[in-house]
This record gives sequence, C-alpha cells and structure tokens, in this order.
Amino acid sequence: MSPPSLIQASAPSSHSAPIALSYELFPPRNEAASLSLWDTIGKLESTNPDYVSVTYGANGSNRDTAVDLLNRLLTETSLLPLAHLTCVGNTGDELADIISELLDHGVRGILALRGDLPSDVPEQPRAGALTYAQDLIELIRRVEQRRSALLCAGKVAIGVAAYPARYPESPSIEHDIEVLLAKQRSGADFAITQVFFHADQYKDLVNRARRAGVSIPIIPGVMPLTSLRRVQRLGDLTGVEPSAKLLDALGRAENAAESRRIGVQETVGLARAALDAGAPGIHLYTFNEHAAALEVLDKLQLLRPGRPQIPARAARASQSARVATDRLVTA
Ligand code: FAD
Repeated sequence: MSPPSLIQASAPSSHSAPIALSYELFPPRNEAASLSLWDTIGKLESTNPDYVSVTYGANGSNRDTAVDLLNRLLTETSLLPLAHLTCVGNTGDELADIISELLDHGVRGILALRGDLPSDVPEQPRAGALTYAQDLIELIRRVEQRRSALLCAGKVAIGVAAYPARYPESPSIEHDIEVLLAKQRSGADFAITQVFFHADQYKDLVNRARRAGVSIPIIPGVMPLTSLRRVQRLGDLTGVEPSAKLLDALGRAENAAESRRIGVQETVGLARAALDAGAPGIHLYTFNEHAAALEVLDKLQLLRPGRPQIPARAARASQSARVATDRLVTA
C-alpha cells in the first residue's frame, strides 16, 4: 500500500475543525444595488458564515464604497468582514493609510492582492508603487507591527489569491506555486482560489502546493455557474477555460429555471469534489445575489456547528445603552 498523500493525511477526523463557510460581496454601485445587497446580506447572515469578503477595485477605484460597506457590516451585522485590498498603482504610503483606516474601523482580515493591471500600463511604473501581492503582505505586517499594542485582542489574518489553472501572466503552474510559497513566507495565513471548472484542478493545486511546502489552508472559491453569459464572461476575465460540457448544457437550457438547476448542480459537484479532496472551507462568489448561493449551500449540507445566535452589534449596542439607562433610572 502506498503511503497516504498529504491530502489524505489531513482528511477530516473526529477532532478536525468544521468546514468554514464564507461569501464574496462587492460594494454596490448605486442606491438600488445597495438596497438589494442589504436584502442579500440579511439572508446570508442567517446562515452564520465565518466571514464575508468585500472586493476592492484595482487602484482603489471604489475605496469609499468598499470602506463604507465594511464599516456597515461591522456596525450593523454580526458578520466578520474580510477586506480585499489591491496594491497595483498605489504607493506604500498610500496603502499604509488605507490599511490603518481598515484596522481603525475594526477590520482584522485582509485579502492581499495585486489587482488586475490597467489596459494602458504606463511605461514607467509610479515611483514607490508596489509591484506584487507579496509586497502588500509585507507592508500589512509592517503596519501591524507598528500597531501591535492596539491589536492585543486579535492580529490581522492575511489571505492571498491562489490559481488552480495557470495564471495567464505566469510562465508555468510551477511558477504559480513558487509565488504562493513566497506569499506564505512573507506572512500569508490562508489562500482563496480563483474559480475553477474542473474538480481535479483544485485537488492538483493542493497536491502541488503541499509538495512545495505550502502549508496554509487553500480554500476553494466556487461560483454558482447558473448563467451562460456570466460563465463565458468569467472565462474571459480570469483566463480560466470553462468546461465545454457545462457551456453546452447551459446553452441548451430552455429557460432560466433550467439554467439555474444545471448551474447549481455543477457548482455543488465542484464544491463536493473539493471537500472530498480535503478542502477546509468553501468560499462562495455570490455576485451580490443570495438565491443560487443558498441553493448550493442547501444541497451541500455542510457539517457546521449550530452557533449561538449573535445579535447584530448595533442591536447589542442599543441593548447595553438601554440597560445603562435603566440602571440610572433605578439608582
Ligand atoms: P500576484 O500574486 O502579485 O501575482 C501577479 C503576477 O506576478 C503573477 O503572474 C505572478 O506569477 C507574478 N509574481 C508575483 N509575485 C512575484 C515575484 N515575487 N516575483 C516574480 N513574479 C511574481 N482583483 C481586484 O482588482 N479586486 C479584488 O477584490 C479581487 N479579488 C480577488 C479575490 C480572489 C479570491 C482572487 C483569486 C482574485 C481576486 N482578484 C481581485 C483578481 C486579482 O487581483 C488578479 O488576478 C491579479 O491580476 C493578480 O493578483 P495576485 O494577488 O494573484 O497577484
């Protein structure tokens, strides 16, 4: 019998942690989108995710709306936010400011990314601009070090991107793994993957990463693949080739309900295969819509602990204010 692989060795035991659950949201672009997003947030909150991530436009294009959403999640809900942050086009000083602002608001998780390069890349990079996600990780750790006395109740968790299929700008999948290892060495605590369309891609990534010495959790990012147009667009944006079988099935679907059934089934299959390969969690790209994400979750039947219902912070705050007033009145 061959020795167990590292993935088998870390297969769930009675002492293993529950499967982590998280969602990705993006900052709303207008008032109507904000209303719809907050409806979605309410529905997702009821599933007790471990965190929700909030995307950030490359070059800080939506900095204010991203910070506003993070702030509202912290003050109005029981959800723990993971702030995406991109470094492309920004200097270390500018990024140190935004990192400090996030920490001041109470954010304790940052997904450190380079961000997509603009289509018109300047010949001379801006003086002092960071180049790679790895530079951003090191900067976050430096800012954290300067503020260590303020972080005694919890340091910063840093996540990074990982790629089940070769990253389009990268010379090889081996180079991708070297970059992931370098990000771990610089202080990354976990990785979330780009979308993938074939179950083996996640398993192969984890195998290659473990063999190279990457030990951080690698969480599969899965998206409800319920719309042909979105799957095609995602393929163009990420450079990941969608499965021809899925494209064909979605293309032949007669209506939106059938598309959704096909997409949910496909997504559940990918997520289950990742979990069977030892994935420690599932990160659902929601596109700010809850219905398909909740359907995927329902079909996955994740083993998650029942948690005490944590009232939203705002509710807790107003409750303590009421108690304080009552005390004053009865004193
Ligand atoms: P890096 O890790 O810096 O890699 C970029 C390129 O540089 C790669 O080709 C890599 O091989 C190379 N490289 C990296 N380090 C080195 C090094 N030390 N030496 C030599 N070469 C190196 N984009 C957004 O704009 N906003 C978001 O909110 C966002 N969220 C995302 C969330 C997830 C989970 C994922 C997977 C991606 C997300 N992206 C987002 C997209 C991401 O920013 C892009 O894919 C970006 O183009 C690359 O980011 P990165 O952090 O992987 O870059």
